[in-house]
Amino acid sequence: MTQTEKFRRLTERLDTYPDQVVELQRQLVSRVALGPEVGGVGEADKAAFLAEVLESWGLEVRNYPAPDDRVPGGSRPNLVAYLPGKRPEKVWVLSHTDVVPPGDLSLWESDPFTLRVDGDRLYGRGTEDDHHGIVMSLMAVRAFLDLGLTPERTLALALVADEETGNDKGLAFLLREHPELFSPEDLIIVPDAGSNDGTMIEVAEKSILWLKVTLLGQQGHASRPHKAKNTLRAAAHVIVALDDLQREFPRHNPLFRPPMSTFEPTRKEANVPNINTIPGRDVFYLDCRVLPDYDLAQVTERVRAIATEAAGKFGVTVDVETVQTLASAPPTAAEAPVVKALQQAIRQVYGREATPQGIGGGTVAAFFRKAGLPAAVWMTANDCAHQPNEFCFLSHLLGDAKVLAHVCLLAE
Ligand SMILES: [Zn+2]
Repeated sequence: MTQTEKFRRLTERLDTYPDQVVELQRQLVSRVALGPEVGGVGEADKAAFLAEVLESWGLEVRNYPAPDDRVPGGSRPNLVAYLPGKRPEKVWVLSHTDVVPPGDLSLWESDPFTLRVDGDRLYGRGTEDDHHGIVMSLMAVRAFLDLGLTPERTLALALVADEETGNDKGLAFLLREHPELFSPEDLIIVPDAGSNDGTMIEVAEKSILWLKVTLLGQQGHASRPHKAKNTLRAAAHVIVALDDLQREFPRHNPLFRPPMSTFEPTRKEANVPNINTIPGRDVFYLDCRVLPDYDLAQVTERVRAIATEAAGKFGVTVDVETVQTLASAPPTAAEAPVVKALQQAIRQVYGREATPQGIGGGTVAAFFRKAGLPAAVWMTANDCAHQPNEFCFLSHLLGDAKVLAHVCLLAE
């Protein structure tokens, strides 16, 4: 049978799975998996259910539990299961079993932990983030099994804990304690973010740098400015002067939108409460999203120098503190095999051209990239993760399962 014929049969098979998808989502949504940081008991219940499903399909499931005294049972489950392929190289799909709390219940139109089906939409906490990844990968496995087909590469599922609260008991644990699981030859897909037409393949993330800028001058009466040192006027000049950062760190990388580093003044703390006092202390914050090739310490140093010079003209001193710093992982190459494979599959299934892109935030894929493993973040998402009335489209789940099936059929 040709690859084209196999793909056609897998596609047709997946089209018969809507009821299975709904039932799987129903079971997953009802098993609340919240981390101890947010008052939950962990992912044991949901992971046990998933292990039972996969084992009933004949797959061998291994658990790599991360010790954690804060939950009943004393550990967090990290499941790995393989659908053996013709070759040992793997297509990994890493999904997470934990969810975020529902938040304000009055904003939900139905119980967050009872699946509600409305046409193509499946509502419930976790349906998209990250049951989307779990369900699409399980459905792809199911289709290969039902048709008695063997994928080219081994399809490897990782169902990990603790994504929403830091990954220390999830992927970070797996990479630290069981690094032999993953190889740079594997294609690693993380279905945990994406665009609503499925054309964004996330391969890079900017570094994040948050700075607190404090200006100290001399408070005084507004009618006698010569006796004061006005920090608000100085802050205004400092903020304008900091626009120079754009010129000092000018590199462009077309992967990102926007393609350059950004340096945005954001929060401003209150100074004096009344109009007729000149403020002697002002504090504002800078949110910098910096291209991976720049050093964050160098950016901080330039902020300090520019601000000190601009404020000095008003006799005002400046202190710059780091609030958060998160250096980005090296990007996955835009030509990496996982990107090429996804592009080809997305073209087949959706008839669209997907492009490798960078984002300004951070995802769990950074852990793979820091370990030298090229990972791509991809799914067809509708961007309602963490919101009330979270939902996913059944049709996207099946479409994305077809994309995954296609990737597993690729010979190279
Ligand atoms: Zn997620």
